[in-house]
Amino acid sequence: EDYYVFSLTDITKLKEKSNLFEYQASHDKLTGLFNRNKFDEVYSKELKRSKRYNNELSMIIFDIDDFKMVNDNYGHQIGDDVLKEFSYILSQNIRNVDTLGRWGGEEFLVVCPETLKDGAKDLAIKLNKAIKLHKFSTYPHSVTISVGVASCSVNDLNYDDIISNADKALYEAKNNGRDRVEIF
Ligand code: GH3
Ligand code: MG
Ligand code: MG
Repeated sequence: EDYYVFSLTDITKLKEKSNLFEYQASHDKLTGLFNRNKFDEVYSKELKRSKRYNNELSMIIFDIDDFKMVNDNYGHQIGDDVLKEFSYILSQNIRNVDTLGRWGGEEFLVVCPETLKDGAKDLAIKLNKAIKLHKFSTYPHSVTISVGVASCSVNDLNYDDIISNADKALYEAKNNGRDRVEIF
């Protein structure tokens, strides 16, 4: 007769391993922030929740200004350092209820549940300022971001609309000279 005996440590190890896989599937490797998949999942849930309770929800999307210059002038490694430190500063400046994710290369998103446009605007300005004032450890210049904000208070806004509205505002911020916040 065969017995399969799992010791407590085996089970602990198995659990650790599956937690590790879960972590890797949901987090961006470089920055440790939520990756696009995980952000999508959280955002979809928050959107449903805000619709059910008729709450507002805001989206902040931002992109580092002239980031190509960082890589071109200081190398890809320093660029990576900046992205890591940048992400840490962001995470220190959002509220517990907000969710931050890395959307692409040097583009990031924050979903702010139960947040009106003015509150999201304040947070966007705060993030813009915190990044601008931060002294990076391996990069000697300041880093700025362009930020777009969009909110939904009505039920007819869907998943893509809010992101694309925030993206339009971001595009405006870039067009209007960078290092600024625009509201859709
Ligand atoms: P803009 O102000 O218009 O946003 O200019 P930009 O230079 O930031 O924009 P562009 O899209 O031309 O360049 C983005 C750069 O970000 C190019 C790409 O190599 C770099 N980048 C994206 N992901 C990473 C990464 O993970 N590490 C590093 N080091 N660089 C990255
Ligand atoms: Mg950029
Ligand atoms: Mg970009």
